[in-house]
Parts: sequence; C-alpha cells; structure tokens
Amino acid sequence: MKKDDIFEFYRRLAELNPAPRTELEYGNDYQLLVAVVLSAQATDVGVNKATRALFREVRTPAQMVALGEEGLKQHIKTIGLFNAKAKNVIALSEILVRDFGGEVPKDRDILTTLPGVGRKTANVVMNTAFGAETFAVDTHIFRVGNRTGLAPGKNPLEVERKLEKQTPAPFRRDAHHWLILHGRYICKARKPECWRCPVSDLCRYKPKTPAPANASKAA
Ligand code: SF4
Repeated sequence: MKKDDIFEFYRRLAELNPAPRTELEYGNDYQLLVAVVLSAQATDVGVNKATRALFREVRTPAQMVALGEEGLKQHIKTIGLFNAKAKNVIALSEILVRDFGGEVPKDRDILTTLPGVGRKTANVVMNTAFGAETFAVDTHIFRVGNRTGLAPGKNPLEVERKLEKQTPAPFRRDAHHWLILHGRYICKARKPECWRCPVSDLCRYKPKTPAPANASKAA
C-alpha cells in the first residue's frame, strides 16, 4: 500500500474511534498482564466474565500467590486452557513478587521471560500499560495486514516489523487497537463486511463482499 494510502487508512479509523481502548477489563498494570495472559485463544468477553470477581479479590501478585493455583482455577475454569494458564499466572506472580517488588516490569524483553508471556502479550502490555509504540499482532491484525495490503507478511513477526516501519507518527500508539477492532467487527475472518467498510477504496482485497439485500450502511 502506498504511503499516502496508509496514512488515510489510519486517519479514517482514527476519525471513527478517536480513543480506542482494549476491551479487556482491568484496574491496574498487573491485572492487565493477567487478563492478557488469560485471553490467549479466548474471547475478551469470556475473560471479563471470569476476571470481574477475581479482580475484586486480587489486585497484586502477592494476593494472587496467596489465592494459589487451585483457588485461581475456580475463578477461571470457564476459560479455555485454564489449567495451564493458572499455573503460568501463579508462576509469573511469584517472580514479580520475588524479583520485581510486585511491579510489572516496563521492558518487553523482561516481560517475555515470564511464564505464559509471549511477544504478543508483552507488546499489548507495553502499549496499553506504558503507552509504548508496539504492535501486538494477533489473528485479526495478521489477517487485516495481509488482506488489505497494509502490512503483508508470512508470519506475525513479519507483519509486526512492517507495521513498525510503515505506521505514521500520529497513529503509532493506537494502531494496534484500531486494527484489532477493525478485524473483529468489520474485516471479519470468514466474510469481511466490505460493503460497510470505511477503508474499502484503499484496500486491495478482491472481490469485495457486497451488501446483503436487507442491510443498511449503518448496520
Ligand atoms: S474492504 Fe473488505 S477486505 Fe478490505 S479492509 Fe474493508 S472489510 Fe476488509
């Protein structure tokens, strides 16, 4: 995609949603980290349902360690892969207490050493908690980047590098939120809703999905 088109692509998404936020619910950096770890291969809605009660009880890594693995499992058993996730959350909480004074480290490389924290999770935390210009490539961003021609790549890291290189300054901090929301609600996996897409003239995907017979543009 050409430089001017990339700028216009983000400009339109930004105009429609000037202050995009993660849909995960959390009250502090530590709860955000836990929520993102729990959200792997799960929906934000499902994670929020489980964490509402959990986060009333647990606000710090020390409180999580005190709750223990079995106690945590009781809270998150509706979330996929909850056994492995409970183990990781307790282990990472122990490390935060032991090595980081109970704080979430503001460093992507350190974050990725924590159990259950991969590059994508670390990028989300760096961006959402600390305002870093990181690009957390999930399934939605990978699809949107490739489909539209905005940031084509064979794997998430390639897409991340392209976004890092090409995203213009005013949009760098919020780019990943706009792309996730665009992929989640409009540029959907099975059937992108091109007929109501604000960037359809900039996107190289063909053929575009036509409007269903009974749809209005505001649907
Ligand atoms: S036009 Fe269609 S494929 Fe292109 S970004 Fe919009 S919804 Fe996605």
